[in-house]
Amino acid sequence: MTMVYTTCTRDCPDTCAVIAHVEGGRVVKLAGDAVHPITRGFLCKKTYQYPARVYSANRIGHPLKRTKSGWRRITWNEAFDTLAERLTRLRAKDGTLAVLHYQSAGSMGLLKALNQRFFNLWGGVTEAGGSLCSGAGVAGQLKSYGAVRRHAPQDLLHSRTILLWGRNPIVTNIHMVPFLKAARERGATVVVIDPRRSETVKYADQHLPIKPGGDAYLAIGLAQALLRQGLVDWPFVRSTTVNAAEYEQVLARVEPQTIVDRTGLPTEAIDALARLYGTQKPGSIHLGMGPQRWRAGAEVFQYIDALAALTGNLGVPGGGVNYSSRLPSLLDLSWLAEGRAHTRRFVLRASIGRDLLESGDPPIRLAWICGANPVTQALNSDLIRRALAQLECVVVSDISLTDTAQAAHLFLPTTTFLEEEDLVVAEWWHSYLGYVRPVIAPYGEARSDLAIFQGLAERLGFGAEMAGTPGEWISRLIAPMQGYGITLERLRADGWVQHPLAEDVPFADGRFFTPSGKFEFITKGLESFDPPVAYPLYMITAKTNTRLNSQVLDQERERLPRAWVHPEVLANVGVTDGADAVVESPYGSMRVRVQADAQQRRDTVFTEQGSWLSAGGTPNQLTGNVISNRGSLGAYNQVSVRLARGHSDASEACPKGAGLSGPARISSPLP
Ligand code: SF4
Repeated sequence: MTMVYTTCTRDCPDTCAVIAHVEGGRVVKLAGDAVHPITRGFLCKKTYQYPARVYSANRIGHPLKRTKSGWRRITWNEAFDTLAERLTRLRAKDGTLAVLHYQSAGSMGLLKALNQRFFNLWGGVTEAGGSLCSGAGVAGQLKSYGAVRRHAPQDLLHSRTILLWGRNPIVTNIHMVPFLKAARERGATVVVIDPRRSETVKYADQHLPIKPGGDAYLAIGLAQALLRQGLVDWPFVRSTTVNAAEYEQVLARVEPQTIVDRTGLPTEAIDALARLYGTQKPGSIHLGMGPQRWRAGAEVFQYIDALAALTGNLGVPGGGVNYSSRLPSLLDLSWLAEGRAHTRRFVLRASIGRDLLESGDPPIRLAWICGANPVTQALNSDLIRRALAQLECVVVSDISLTDTAQAAHLFLPTTTFLEEEDLVVAEWWHSYLGYVRPVIAPYGEARSDLAIFQGLAERLGFGAEMAGTPGEWISRLIAPMQGYGITLERLRADGWVQHPLAEDVPFADGRFFTPSGKFEFITKGLESFDPPVAYPLYMITAKTNTRLNSQVLDQERERLPRAWVHPEVLANVGVTDGADAVVESPYGSMRVRVQADAQQRRDTVFTEQGSWLSAGGTPNQLTGNVISNRGSLGAYNQVSVRLARGHSDASEACPKGAGLSGPARISSPLP
């Protein structure tokens, strides 16, 4: 048995240092590296189970082409010939904008950015931009601070009050938990603010089950209480912020009863939390994705940011409003060759179904989808399926036939992170770059994205411009880091290295990156969202500890999505615990298996992210094309639903492909 040190490239803030145990050329076990300052010897359940994904019976190890009689195995030569001929014909007839490149966070490897280089060298295509996860919150924090920065994970130990606001680290950021436990042992009070009684609540001192969409109102209520209780740090506000007077006017216009109605929380609870945060200092706020998944998501974050400014919990150890981080890039992004694109156009990732149907002149005729499964992860799944079914050609690269791949004409098998050399430079939560070392040989004939685009570039006549080993490309892209002593050789030797510009406490000098150089309070009023009478329930979709987005294990592909509902709601619609039911919205419906949960709110259906249509349903069958005011994020929470009795008995196994009925299920063969 050999042990190979690598880095997890999955869409997760923890960026773990992984030790792969290899026997006979196969990975038999994954473990966390105990020496890494954040990984500390353990991984999450999702990645402990990852070898089952690598060797899944559903994994595809060779290219496929759709024919009249179904999928046909083809060679890479045939795949490249087909693609080169089709791309060349399309460019001559409609121009390069008739091609859509849709890429998302299937892997956070740096070399995935070179996919864009390919399309830019080819002339520039329609690119999918915007956000499926964090964009509105980022836009909000850019307004408040002029930058998106968070404290180092270890700085949590300095906090005496910790607000986990819409964040569920047990599931989405598990390496935060040891810091959380240590902070509590040192006397910190931990409060979870979440509509759902999440898995993290058991590690907290208090849970505030806020009404969905009430986050900005809670922030306003807390600000009003801080003012009432004389807990505002006026010297800090006067010296370090702007717009305080206008912000106070906004606060004054919101009635106390509105706060209670919108948050579903009693005034006493809000007053007590304000007292805690305003007196037991320093206090840190840790935001998750949920509070910004609304049309006004950016403004929600600005209202929450304001609490730290009011109390002077900014720029001090143990403080901050921690969400994500965007340090200045130390990458040579000229390698993406944007200057070589003669033309480019953008559509939104989140509303890709609508945007495909309305792509304009030229209409999109070919979609190339990699590192992404928009049919389950973007808004309005059924519309996306219809839009993909109308295209002349859909190319999907993935490791198995996802819901999106079911709509493809060509399927290209890709490698997993255990089969690639790459680098992860994500620093949303910690600041360690991680070297991705190839652990095993590629599965079957699978190729990395880089190898796929290199092969196709050869056919299209610009192979020399895509040429290079993964190591050579890493070196080219990180060349600006050489001045800080970071080279490929060092990464290969050490496995990880801290980002040279990492900081423990942002804004410690009292300077911000806004136009004023100060913290800028929000001065805009709020919009609200109320479910209509016909669809009286909110829907909150949470991540689970066995799936990463739609990356699921085989056994999860086969089961209906679960929905957790208060027993009173079930009784009202005549559904029993454990039965199948249907969740309906104005946009579609989804089959679920319900679980009665008396600890959850009565006005909300809680369901799980990432379930597949082929398992019976996915929550994005229920979402419409609502995009955040700023940040181009899909407003996934801005949907109302109702629960109805299902058509099948609880004991009935989910029929395979039950959610894929209808004309969009099977694409026509490649014309
Ligand atoms: S998914 Fe996240 S927590 Fe799990 S191993 Fe990868 S980086 Fe670590």
